[in-house]
Amino acid sequence: MLAVQERVRAEDGTTVLVWHKAAQPEQCNGECDFHPIACSDTEGTTAPGPLRDVPLRLKQQDERWCTDCLAGDRVTEE
Ligand SMILES: [Zn+2]
Ligand SMILES: [Zn+2]
Repeated sequence: MLAVQERVRAEDGTTVLVWHKAAQPEQCNGECDFHPIACSDTEGTTAPGPLRDVPLRLKQQDERWCTDCLAGDRVTEE
C-alpha cells in the first residue's frame, strides 16, 4: 500500500515512524513536499521524499500504521 511517513515522538521519548495511507497517490511526482493522507481531509505530511510501498505487516518495531488510515480503508491482514 502506498504510504507516507510521519515521525512521531512517543510518550517515552523515542521516535516512532507512523505510516499513513497516501491519498491521491496518482498526484505524487516524487518531488512534492506535501502529501495528503487518507485519515484527514485537511492535514498531510510535509516529510520530503516519494511515496513508499509499505507492507501491512511491518517488520520494524519502531514502525506502525496509522490506525485511522487503516480503519478508513477497512484493510484486513488477510
Ligand atoms: Zn493516517
Ligand atoms: Zn509525492
